Parts: sequence; C-alpha cells; structure tokens
Amino acid sequence: MEDTLKILIVDDDEVDRMAVRCALTKAGIQMELSEVGDGNDAFSILSTTAYDCVFLDSRLLERDGLTLIQQLGSSEIKVPLVVLTGQEDDQSGVQLLKAGATDYLYKSRISPENLAQVLRSAIRVYRAEMQAALANQQLRESHKQLIRKNQELERQQQQLQMQNFKLSEASLLKSNFLANMSHELRTPMNAIIGFSQILLRPKFGELTHQQTDMVERILNNGKHLLMLLNEVLDFSKLEGGRLDLKAEIFDVSKVINLAVAEMRSLADVKNLSLLVQTDLQNTLVFNDPVRIKQILINLLSNAVKFTESGEIWVEVKELPANKVAIIVRDTGIGIAPKDFKRIFEAFRQVDQTLTRKYPGTGLGLAIIDSLVRMMGGKIFLESKLGIGSMFKIELPRQITLSAPTADTLPLQVDGDRVSCSAKNPHHSSSQAWQANRIS
Ligand code: ADP
Repeated sequence: MEDTLKILIVDDDEVDRMAVRCALTKAGIQMELSEVGDGNDAFSILSTTAYDCVFLDSRLLERDGLTLIQQLGSSEIKVPLVVLTGQEDDQSGVQLLKAGATDYLYKSRISPENLAQVLRSAIRVYRAEMQAALANQQLRESHKQLIRKNQELERQQQQLQMQNFKLSEASLLKSNFLANMSHELRTPMNAIIGFSQILLRPKFGELTHQQTDMVERILNNGKHLLMLLNEVLDFSKLEGGRLDLKAEIFDVSKVINLAVAEMRSLADVKNLSLLVQTDLQNTLVFNDPVRIKQILINLLSNAVKFTESGEIWVEVKELPANKVAIIVRDTGIGIAPKDFKRIFEAFRQVDQTLTRKYPGTGLGLAIIDSLVRMMGGKIFLESKLGIGSMFKIELPRQITLSAPTADTLPLQVDGDRVSCSAKNPHHSSSQAWQANRIS
C-alpha cells in the first residue's frame, strides 16, 4: 500500500468525517481524500472517479435504504466499501456484508491502527475478489469457446460420417461395376481365345505363316487380357466380400509343382533358373487349391517380371504350430523399404508412371494379401534394392472356415473329397502382413 490511495468518506456528520480523516492521517496513510455528505453526491462522484476505498456511514445506508449500494451494483461501479456503524452487534455486521459492503467497523473502535488495518484488508479482499471475478469471467469465456468448438467438431464429424457413407456407397458401386464389367467381358474374351485356338488347328485348314503369326498374337493377347480381367474380377469380389474359399484336402506339393510348371516357359524366355525345393513330411493340407495356385502364380510372375538375370527359388517347408511356409525368392530389382507397405495396396506399383517398364494392374499383391488373411495366414517380405526379394507366406495347415451362417456352406463329403466354402470376411485391403528388411 505504498501508492497514494484515493479515499472517499461519505458521512453527513462533519465531526465523524473529521474523526476518520484524523485517524487515517495519523496512521500515516498516503492518500488523496474526498468527502461528501450524502448518498447522491457519493454516487455522482463515484460515477466519474475511481477510488481505492469508500468509508460509508451506516446511518446513511439506513436512510437511503441501501440505494447507494444498489446503484453502485447496477452501474457496475466496483469499489471496496467499508461501512462505519454505531450498532455494535454481529447481526447488523452480517447484514451489511450481505448488502454488499466489503467490511465494517464499529465507530467506537475507530483508531488509526484499526482504520488502517480495515482499509488494507478491504483493499486486499476487493483485489482478490476482482481477480477471482476476472478468472471466472475468463473461465466462462473459455467454456463458451469450448462449447462452440465442440459444436463445430460435431458438425465436422457429421459431415465426415456423411462423406464416409457416400464414399463407401461409391466404392461399392465401383466394385459392383468392376465385377459386372469384367464378368461380361470374359465371355467374348473366351470366344476370341477359343476360336483362335480352333483356327490354329490344321484340320480347320492350313494358314499361311503370316496368318498363323497373327492368330497366335490374338491368342496370346487374349489370354493376357483374360488374366487381367480375372484379376479385376477377383479383386472386386474380395472388396465386396463376395469371394468364396472352396477348401478341400489336397497335396500342396502337387499344386506347387503345377504352378511352377506353368511359369517355367516364361522363366526360360528370360534365361532364369527356376528351382523348387519341397521339404514337407506331410504334404496334405486343408485349403483352397485353386487360390493357393493363384497366389503362387502371382508371386512367380512378379519374380520373373522383376528379375533380369539369376535365379528364382520356390521353397515349401514345415513350420512349428502345424503351419506351412511357401517362399518365393528372386535375384531381381528388389524393393525399397519405403515401398514395402504401399505395394500391398490395390493399384499400387513402385513405378506409377505411364512409361513404366513393367506392365501390370497393381492388383496381384492386394489380392494375395486378402486371400492370405482369409486363410488365417501372414505374408513376410524381405528385400534389398538391386539384390532381390523374398516373399514368405505362412499358412495354417488346416484353414478355419467361418461358422456356417447364411454366408457359408457346411462341409460336403463327395467320395474322398471334403470341401467347404467360406465368404471373404475381410473387405478392406488393410495390411495384415509384416515387412522386414534383409539386415
Ligand atoms: P503388378 O505386378 O501388376 O504391378 P502387384 O500387386 O503384383 O502388381 O505388385 C505391385 C508392385 O510391387 C509391382 O508393380 C512392383 O513394383 C512391386 N513388386 C512386386 N513383386 C516384386 C518383386 N518380386 N520384385 C520387385 N518388385 C516387386
């Protein structure tokens, strides 16, 4: 309280005012003192000038019926108010505080020490109240802001939900379109392939060398196109959850050898050695042989496509916990670690340019990823740029098909074949595989 304090004494009794003035002066308080004789004058002066404290005679309060305090309150004029009262009972003191006074002092106790003490404490209490009020005000503001932000977030969330809904609807439409389109295109494509094969048979008449060459091209391109259509069809079925696994007990080594035999001519064209090693005590598995072959053909065609020289190895081996691993290694261009995750996404290729060297739909690995997860297995990838790649697929020897529901069919026994169908439980192509680097 070192600064000069602006103090107002409101009392209609000149003697009482002097008593307060003297006590304050004796207490050594640095002050600028003003004095008024009634509530109206006090209100006028307080409306224009800021005071650090007001000493108010309680008799004025009684006469003006608390008008001064109410006027100050409704005009938002805030000032520490010490009421000087002649009634020495606590009850009236409490009433004064309730009415809005900051503190009160019995007139009989007016002394320099008491007045200075009550002045200091009134100012302290007033400042603390102001700070609390300010903090409260700030809290209310931030609460309002939070409510506004919450409302905004809720609005954005609703918009996102709406957009998500529209997106999944559009995605479903796209999948259905792809499935229908590729299905429809397969029929004329089969006719093109079938008739070009017939044309190449001598019993339908001799073709010139040039004609044979042209029909062979039609046949090869037709087969390639059919393969692409099948990929698109499989992918859209997987996305729409409409692809069935038709599981049965079969010799996995035979299926692996069949797939390798199909790919051998392609490897021979590029002078790549294609080696197979089967290391299984029990070669029987319960799975979908068509899909296992498809997975291997896909991995092998990638290995051949992305390898210019060297070898491709296929290895099948037993793993603990009744699992089987199918491994395809190559000495090809390799894959950078930053692309490990991306290449399992649909339509993703390391080289996405139109002038890329290696053709393809970018669907092979996405299809493998979904199929392997449907089978309850995992894919591991190790690769190093310029050295080669290794794709390892770990599968349970016996896949578990989801419990028979409207979507699944029960096991069917037909002679010595046991088969069963399962709908694809995974619609999205999220990454269930694990990627590692060759260290
Ligand atoms: P596609 O082969 O039709 O492009 P995939 O989904 O089979 O589609 O493969 C995606 C991408 O992953 C390929 O475009 C290629 O960039 C990369 N890739 C896959 N297999 C190999 C491999 N054995 N060696 C190098 N890159 C590969």
